[in-house]
Amino acid sequence: MNMLFERKLAIPMEVKEMYPLTAGVSDAVEKTRSALAAVMEGRDDRLVLIIGPCSADREDAVLDYASRLAEIQEKVKDKLLLVPRVYTNKPRTTGEGYMGMLHQPDPEAKPDMFKGIVSIRQMHMRVVKETGLGCADEMLYPENYKYIDDILCYVAVGARSVEDQQHRLTASGIEVPVGMKNPTGGDLSVMMNAITAAQHPHTFIYRGWEAHSQGNPLAHAILRGYVDKRGVSHPNYHYEDLMLLLQLYAEKSYMNPACVVDLNHSNSGKKPLEQVRIAREIMQSRAYNSDVRRLVKGLMIESYIEDGAQKIGEGIYGKSITDPCLGWEKSERLILDLADMV
Ligand code: PEP
Ligand code: MN
Repeated sequence: MNMLFERKLAIPMEVKEMYPLTAGVSDAVEKTRSALAAVMEGRDDRLVLIIGPCSADREDAVLDYASRLAEIQEKVKDKLLLVPRVYTNKPRTTGEGYMGMLHQPDPEAKPDMFKGIVSIRQMHMRVVKETGLGCADEMLYPENYKYIDDILCYVAVGARSVEDQQHRLTASGIEVPVGMKNPTGGDLSVMMNAITAAQHPHTFIYRGWEAHSQGNPLAHAILRGYVDKRGVSHPNYHYEDLMLLLQLYAEKSYMNPACVVDLNHSNSGKKPLEQVRIAREIMQSRAYNSDVRRLVKGLMIESYIEDGAQKIGEGIYGKSITDPCLGWEKSERLILDLADMV
């Protein structure tokens, strides 16, 4: 192989021994995990909001953002379950660009994978410790998942990974809800097949072990819009799209048919301010049809302190360096309005 193996990294067990969870953090994680399971299984009819920046690029701004969420969570606790997006691994469309805190704990410095592993574990622990909220991340690399599997409460498999066997098999061994995104090209059968695979037990090789997974009954769909053969974005959050997903769920036997709608990405055409309007439309579809209401258990929102996005190096606190986000003031308004619409 034409590749330099620079150093052997600590395995997840060693990193967990170096940076163990404290009792307070485990309790908060357990509490959020059972609340999320209750929503996914239809025992709790609150709406889940998986909300936060496209990428968790710096710990101070992420903690500041999550603390603001924690304050609102108190106000809306009967209607909404807020799950901060703390996304530490970023897939890149062409492989170029910022790859998340896992690779670059400092976005302006060279990649440092060991420092990255430690920084994402520490950041995830701090967010839970200081806010009491349980968090979401994307599983971009199945073999790295175990570095933070004891902290996460919600996991997404991205649009570029959802057709990959190792992601599907690993998801089948995860004990929290895993959202399978529709692929960037929009083929919903890919997403439905991923849900089927994740809901069933498998035997496979994982980190050098022969591993047996139990199947994950909380694997579900995430609609994120799609791009056509010309690269033009199209939404898939409209009423008709939700009815189609209901039909796809009805065609086979699935456990806990559920869906989260991602309001940004190809659903907004990366126009983050549109997320407010899109959220309203989905709430209307839910109000109109009780099957849709039962199906759509959550919304995913790309939100940060400042509206929009910046280039790395501009250094604006709380402004996304990957996809453009909805700023704090508008996000706060949206959360309160959604609480009134549930
Ligand atoms: C994201 O959630 O920031 C993301 C990259 O999503 P997707 O996989 O849908 O493109
Ligand atoms: Mn994004």
